[in-house]
Amino acid sequence: MKKGFSRGWLAMLPWPRPPGGRHYSACHFCDTLHESFPVSEGLAARCVRCGAVLYQNRPASLARASAFSLAALLLMVLVHAFPFLTMDAATLRRDLTLIGASSALMKADAPILGTAIFLFTVVAPVVLAGGILYVCFPLMFGRAAPLADHVAKWIYRAEPWNMVEVFLLGVLVSLLKLAKVADVHFGFGFWAFAGVMLCMAAAVAGIDREELWDRLEVAKK
Ligand SMILES: [Zn+2]
Repeated sequence: MKKGFSRGWLAMLPWPRPPGGRHYSACHFCDTLHESFPVSEGLAARCVRCGAVLYQNRPASLARASAFSLAALLLMVLVHAFPFLTMDAATLRRDLTLIGASSALMKADAPILGTAIFLFTVVAPVVLAGGILYVCFPLMFGRAAPLADHVAKWIYRAEPWNMVEVFLLGVLVSLLKLAKVADVHFGFGFWAFAGVMLCMAAAVAGIDREELWDRLEVAKK
């Protein structure tokens, strides 16, 4: 278990084989059932019938998932610390933050929309990035954090509700219309939010589910 440490802390513990006999993996495309084995770093297991990738061992998967989720959390601080958009109309100048926009919608006639923006763009990315870091970082040292399996389950449940990229697309479309009545500039918060989107995508794609669950199963023993 400890042989990974001799090559430095960045050297990953190899993907362990979980206990409890045979494990199986079904192809997402043709449903063929395969006996699954851990694969070496950089390699992928493919379906014998259709050739689709069943699972893969991404290089430095745990370090990658942890680093990108930590980066997303740090960028979320910048998102809230700086204006998201700045609008100039005649003599009026207005800085808009993400939380300011959602609370303005809540106070106006759109409380459901304001709450949805707050949940999907402020809460969901923090919960998702925090959850990935909580699960993956201790696994780098062969340990499972308390209730890590439950947190991992919720990460994959919450993943479809992380709508950072949908929100950014909506902002860009709205800006095209707003540009006719006001001079609109992207604030530093907007670019930080775009960074959150990229980091979240890289964190989620950083580690394969098959590998994560195998590592959790072994670390819990
Ligand atoms: Zn297949």
